[in-house]
Amino acid sequence: MQIAIIGAGIGGLTAAASLIRRGHRVRVYEQAPALGEVGAAVQMSANAVKVLYGLGLKPTLESQGVKPESFEFRRFDDGELLHRIALGHAHHLAHGAPYYQIHRVDLHAGLLAQVRALDREAVQLGKRAVQVSETQDEARVQFEDGQQVAAELLVGADGIKSLVRQHVVDAAPPVFTGQVAWRLSIPTERIPAQLRPPLASTIWCGPRNHAVMYYMRAGQLLNFVGCVERPWEQESWTARKPWEELDHDYAGWHPMVRAAIENVDRDQCFRWALNNREPVMQWSTARVTLLGDAVHPTLPYMAQGAAMAIEDAAVLARALEGRPLREALQVYQAHRAPRAARVVRESNEMADLYHIADPDEMRRAFKDRNIAASRNGWLYPYDPLTVALT
Ligand SMILES: Cc1cc2nc3c(=O)[nH]c(=O)nc-3n(C[C@H](O)[C@H](O)[C@H](O)COP(=O)(O)OP(=O)(O)OC[C@H]3O[C@@H](n4cnc5c(N)ncnc54)[C@H](O)[C@@H]3O)c2cc1C
Repeated sequence: MQIAIIGAGIGGLTAAASLIRRGHRVRVYEQAPALGEVGAAVQMSANAVKVLYGLGLKPTLESQGVKPESFEFRRFDDGELLHRIALGHAHHLAHGAPYYQIHRVDLHAGLLAQVRALDREAVQLGKRAVQVSETQDEARVQFEDGQQVAAELLVGADGIKSLVRQHVVDAAPPVFTGQVAWRLSIPTERIPAQLRPPLASTIWCGPRNHAVMYYMRAGQLLNFVGCVERPWEQESWTARKPWEELDHDYAGWHPMVRAAIENVDRDQCFRWALNNREPVMQWSTARVTLLGDAVHPTLPYMAQGAAMAIEDAAVLARALEGRPLREALQVYQAHRAPRAARVVRESNEMADLYHIADPDEMRRAFKDRNIAASRNGWLYPYDPLTVALT
């Protein structure tokens, strides 16, 4: 098939590689004039890593990624361990692939290289889609520069503010969650050895605020994401904010958190609004479908947003094999929508859990919830490359 994908983020590129490998002719249209992911790191669990390995990304993950031993949930001030999820060898053994933490730039560059190795012309830059339409025979996209293209199938991988979604679902904007995310990246060598966090994904939980810290780029950089309840502000991945506001948000936190804050470059404190949408079950029309944040933006509290985009891409490519298009898109959405909705809902619930003010109540809530058992039970074992599509 001739397939047009709008958006060359992690989801769009994974879809392109998966579809080209299955013999389709794919063009990815990206609005940015040059490619380069912004933001800091992502965590990739086995459910997504299986797809990335299948696309040839193992060398990238092994050389640029970090394999943490565990998730550690700790109290924000005294560091009391509230809950632990074993990762490392246990994750690999139980779920068939390792758990990695990797700089977004490195993952994105690895995916782009795979797509270009399959088809040098596949990614077209400086192409901002402004209108989508479809007939019985084709889907059409109009670009800002006046060009129009037609394809048998159009895939909207154009992120949380998706234009393609307006054609498939509705034009409602995403909703501000009342939370913003600080994002910092600190050279590990700057942090005194005794204040460096362990080789884990450490989640410091406090009143109306939590901070996630883990290593990336083979351990050279420490990634910090601080999610705090704050009034509305502009959603922008490149908005820098005064260090003093960061300092204030984490006053009195554990010395390991303070060490990250004290050692960040003070003009490199990024913060943006976290937006969300209610999950929907309608992902497709006859010739247009969606994947990733375009259809199910997800709070980062289970570290699964990009993983879901990767799962979507792999399942879409499989669903298109040996089925008429309309049926394939129905199979794809029927299979993917409930799982993505569960991740969206549980990620929302994590905000309540991580932000409990009272220490006793927080201890009880972590015990009752037992997120290790839950995620090991249904989330990580999923294999997008082999799961039955019915
Ligand atoms: C703080 C934070 C931490 C996170 N941590 C993790 C994590 O640890 N693990 C994880 O799995 N996920 C994580 N996520 C989620 C993850 O970042 C997203 O889910 C993922 O990047 C979505 O990928 P995507 O390809 O669907 O969309 P995007 O990455 O948003 O890509 C969309 C692309 O479409 C392009 N585009 C948009 N509109 C148009 C248009 N009209 N025409 C042409 N091109 C267009 C954009 O320029 C962009 O390149 C995190 C998110 C945040 C905010």
